[in-house]
Amino acid sequence: MSKPVLAVVGRPNVGKSTFFNRIVGRRVAIVEDTPGVTRDRIYAEAEWNGVEFSVIDTGGIEPASSEVIPAQMREQAQIAMDAADCVLFLVDGKEGLTTSDREVADMLRRRADHVVLAVNKVDKAELPAGEAEESEERINIAVIGKPNVGKSSLINALLGENRVIVSDIAGTTRDSIDTPFEKDGVKYNLVDTAGIRRRSKVSEAIERYSVIRAVAAIERCDICLLMIDGREGISEQDKKIAGIAHEGGKGIIVCINKWDLVPKETNTMQHFRREIASEMSFMSYAPAIFISVLEHQRLDQVLATARTVAENRAKRIPTGKLNSLLSDAVMMKMPPSDKGKRLKFYYVTQVGVKPPLFSFKINDRKLLHFSYSRYLENKIREAFGFEGTSIKFVFREKGEKEDV
Ligand code: GDP
Repeated sequence: MSKPVLAVVGRPNVGKSTFFNRIVGRRVAIVEDTPGVTRDRIYAEAEWNGVEFSVIDTGGIEPASSEVIPAQMREQAQIAMDAADCVLFLVDGKEGLTTSDREVADMLRRRADHVVLAVNKVDKAELPAGEAEESEERINIAVIGKPNVGKSSLINALLGENRVIVSDIAGTTRDSIDTPFEKDGVKYNLVDTAGIRRRSKVSEAIERYSVIRAVAAIERCDICLLMIDGREGISEQDKKIAGIAHEGGKGIIVCINKWDLVPKETNTMQHFRREIASEMSFMSYAPAIFISVLEHQRLDQVLATARTVAENRAKRIPTGKLNSLLSDAVMMKMPPSDKGKRLKFYYVTQVGVKPPLFSFKINDRKLLHFSYSRYLENKIREAFGFEGTSIKFVFREKGEKEDV
């Protein structure tokens, strides 16, 4: 039996060639952001989920001038119907349906059992494709902290130990450089290492620059390593940065560096932990690691912890377990009430990851107090972990839509 043939049909620029390249697995068609740039009709052999087939990108017959588009689209559709066993009709979700889309749809309808409609660009099309693919499997780490705390030293130590530096790849902003590397089969990416390696002469400029830079790096990371000089303690700037990472739902690990220079008395670490807990009480979930980059003290813990935190950010708790926890929690501590009306919880489900997001169905949002939601957060953390990551809650009243 010969291989089935799939034809991709759609207006210029809906993403046919991109789709084609993705299916075929290599860049065959020429993709550009100008309608009609693919010149030739292209066939390729493809395999998806174990099924082998041929694909035709009918985009190849696209005209350069927009007047002839409707006619050409009809021709495309005709070719597709003649030559293909199955037609994939691609439309642009951003632009909506056009008259030529409707015309082609009418033609294709005659073979409705072999036509698949796909709406493309529903991702808001704002992310460059490369970045989206990268971030799926790599743990993106941003090393943040005041000048001179040892950020470059840590990065060099991590890279030096783990040898396999793939290469410096350009990031999304023009002058930001990310450094990917691998350790024990896990892929990491150090976000914006250019900003850390660069030096400016004026210290005030460094300070200002480093905050702006840090905010941009935090946005792109999964895990934020907040580096602090063990001799100095936590500054206002550290708190501000920690707050941004927390609000952004990022994983946070506090690395207290230069521990070799800190005079140790009984419970020095304990004291420091307490200081972190009180200074940054909003993120009591963040683990603290006491390191010395210079003496390579506990550096292996940095990546190990980053891995754990990345897993925690991606963790899903089954609905059944969550609800039995919720009913226990409500039983142990009565929800608040006002004028005789008590807050009621119907159920909870986890609706998202990275960071974990929980949706609670309740009777009346006005009855909710911050302290009760903090209580529930603590209960969830006690039961399921989530060390190193913020977790988010949404509260919906009965009858409200479920999605977020
Ligand atoms: P950055 O500005 O945060 O990138 O900091 P650097 O990595 O350039 O480090 C600033 C200085 O601190 C350098 O002189 C380092 O050698 C030193 N340093 C870094 N880590 C340690 C450490 O763990 N112990 C000690 N004693 N010095 C360190």
